Amino acid sequence: MENILKIKIDNEIKTINLGYILAKNAKKGMFIALNGDLGAGKTTMTKGIGKALGVDTTINSPTFTIMKVHNATNNIDGIDKLYHLDVYRLTDSSGDFELEEYFYQDGLTVVEWCDIIKDLIPDEHLEINLQITDLTKRIITIKATQEFENYLAIVKKELEENNYEIIY
Ligand code: ADP
Ligand code: MG
Repeated sequence: MENILKIKIDNEIKTINLGYILAKNAKKGMFIALNGDLGAGKTTMTKGIGKALGVDTTINSPTFTIMKVHNATNNIDGIDKLYHLDVYRLTDSSGDFELEEYFYQDGLTVVEWCDIIKDLIPDEHLEINLQITDLTKRIITIKATQEFENYLAIVKKELEENNYEIIY
């Protein structure tokens, strides 16, 4: 079974909708690691995730707070919260930071710049890289660990149905 998915995106709406499709099919406790340069679309994708989960509060870059917790009301697989982290600021002090597993078990966790806290990523997770190829074009790579291989197959099917350009 495939555990990697590579997609070509040519506008912002498609990044938002990709987030939406990812979250619509999400599993309670899911951990999503987001990586990619500044302006690649990590926060933009998180907005789509929030939309699917039923988040009413504004999703923006939590750089200066490290974490924002949003209530999720759409009851996707029982997900009650969106934990949105941006660990960019932790570059020099990642040793001081801990991810408390208990807090995200009933929610969905999204971490921007997650490579910075690589050692703290739970064993089962999605890892998404957003690469800027042009002003509005991105190549998005999604890697799933074993538990989420089937999930990724479902997401792939839905992306195909929505005319996404899948590289593999
Ligand atoms: P990050 O959180 O990765 O730093 P943001 O989501 O905050 O990035 O910003 C992405 C910026 O790029 C936004 O200004 C958005 O309008 C723009 N943009 C242009 N094309 C895309 C695209 N295909 N996907 C995501 N964002 C895009
Ligand atoms: Mg951001």
